[in-house]
Amino acid sequence: NKEYVGFSALPGQVHRKTVKKGFEFTLMVVGESGLGKSTLINSLFLTDLYKDRKVPTAEERIEPTVSLEDHTMDFEEKGVRMRLTIIDTPGFADSVNNTNCWDTVVKCVEDRLGKYLHDESGLNRRHINDSRVHCCLYFISPFGRGLRPVDVACLTALHDRVNILPVIGKADCLTYTELRALKQQVRDDLERHSIRTYEFPDCDSEEEDEEYKIENQKLKESVPFAVVGSNMVVEVNGRKVRGRLYPWGIVEVENMLHSESATLRSVLVQTHTQDLKDSTAEHHYEAFRSQRLQMPNT
Ligand code: GDP
Ligand code: MG
Repeated sequence: NKEYVGFSALPGQVHRKTVKKGFEFTLMVVGESGLGKSTLINSLFLTDLYKDRKVPTAEERIEPTVSLEDHTMDFEEKGVRMRLTIIDTPGFADSVNNTNCWDTVVKCVEDRLGKYLHDESGLNRRHINDSRVHCCLYFISPFGRGLRPVDVACLTALHDRVNILPVIGKADCLTYTELRALKQQVRDDLERHSIRTYEFPDCDSEEEDEEYKIENQKLKESVPFAVVGSNMVVEVNGRKVRGRLYPWGIVEVENMLHSESATLRSVLVQTHTQDLKDSTAEHHYEAFRSQRLQMPNT
């Protein structure tokens, strides 16, 4: 007797089909190096904190990411099976020449769209593995004043190809006021540069319940999510939690007052998985497909 929390908003048929088949979902992380991309991924998915709360030894041991790496894992989230692939990218280093440093990232996204197009035109169209990138978490620095030129260039190169969800990395470095100002600045910059990010559904249809509408409105207003990651488990009042231990206190990754990491996780693997997949298919894949069919050699 399982509860399918978060999927309740899907129309019945899609819901039943999805629950039976499970999801194939691919997530990518992009942004400047050192903003906590690998740590966040590790925090959210890679270590099975939920089953077996082991305390990792000593300090954090994340190595710098040097190439595009993908990790695939199968898990079950509230009764729904999921095959999650995460593509971790090295991010932009502070080399003097950052020209087109996002090319490999764009290529990776396009290769995956291309593979789907190829499979779809093949003989066995019934069982296509969907390895398209369904969401790109784009990390924004907490230390800047909004989007930097490299962010604008990279986002512009990507936004037609993939759903972009901007996040502010290492958000524990900001006070509440600073965070609010930075979020506003990022939203203004995105608009000014006409960068399209993933849009939480508007849900004007009658089917949607009131709660779902309010939830989506809240999510919309929270973008870019302020995220915090950690590879350490610390103890707070006898509870073991994933957190960052500072001389002055503990930042808890999953505490809603400290970070929006938990919100992000549930958007990705529960509440908006299907919508991100639909948006990939309907917008990004369709655009890619018609371009390829018109100009096969591009
Ligand atoms: P990446 O290059 O974006 O993958 O960044 P890493 O995950 O390798 O992290 C770079 C450094 O930042 C490491 O020393 C982490 O311990 C630290 N770090 C990671 N996440 C956070 C965070 O949420 N807050 C703070 N303050 N530091 C973080
Ligand atoms: Mg990394």
